[in-house]
Formats: sequence, structure tokens, C-alpha cells
Amino acid sequence: MIDPASDMLTGHCHCGSVAFALPHTAAGVLACHCEDCQRMHGNFNAFLAVPKSEVRMTGADVLVWYASSETARRAFCGTCGARVLKEVTAADRWLISAGLIDGPTGRRIIKNLWEQSKPDWYDIPLSASEGQTV
Ligand SMILES: [Zn+2]
Ligand SMILES: [Zn+2]
Repeated sequence: MIDPASDMLTGHCHCGSVAFALPHTAAGVLACHCEDCQRMHGNFNAFLAVPKSEVRMTGADVLVWYASSETARRAFCGTCGARVLKEVTAADRWLISAGLIDGPTGRRIIKNLWEQSKPDWYDIPLSASEGQTV
């Protein structure tokens, strides 16, 4: 949901300790099916990519950080355990979990990543058709 006052998409973790806003222009939903995401999210990871500097966040002190690889770290809420974001260190980019964003988001999955790593119990979700506004 785009907050009319700030013109930003808003979101929060399950318990509400962590809340954030990001530009509504952030790239559409990406779905990552890699093994890291599967093990950390219990499923594929759907996220919006946004420059770290463009995210406004409250409750960031509650986040627990975990180095998931040499090039990235991930943060979850220390109270409710919600997976909030992945930080790609070199790119200074945050991949914000789409499920935490208040709906309706007006977004569709625009791209699937690591499709070859997906488990056998679901089919790759359809991505938005070309030309569709995301
Ligand atoms: Zn929480
Ligand atoms: Zn992944």
C-alpha cells in the first residue's frame, strides 16, 4: 500500500517491532529459489530490491544479523523472527521481504532467480507478462 502522505510503500514484521517505508518506485517483486533462501525462509524468497539509503526504518535495533555468505548478510526480527531483509554488501542494496509489505502492493513477481534450485514440491510462480506495469 502506498502511503499517500509519504508516497512510499510501508511494511512491518509480524510483531510490529520493525517497521519500514521504501520508495514506491522500488523494482517489482523478485522470487529467489536458491538453497540459502529456501533454508532461511522455509520457502522461496520474494523481495523488492532497493538502495539501502532509500529505506526508512524504525526498530532497526531489534534486527538480528546473520552472515549468510561472504557477500551478503540477512536480518530477522529478534522478537518475532520475521525475515526482514537481505543486504548485498557490495551493492549497498537491501532486498526487502515482499510478505512484510502492506497490501495491496500493486506488484507482481517480475523475475524468478535460481529456478534450477527450487524444490520439487511447487511450480515456479508465473512472472508478470512483458510490458505489464510493476
Ligand atoms: Zn517482529
Ligand atoms: Zn536466494
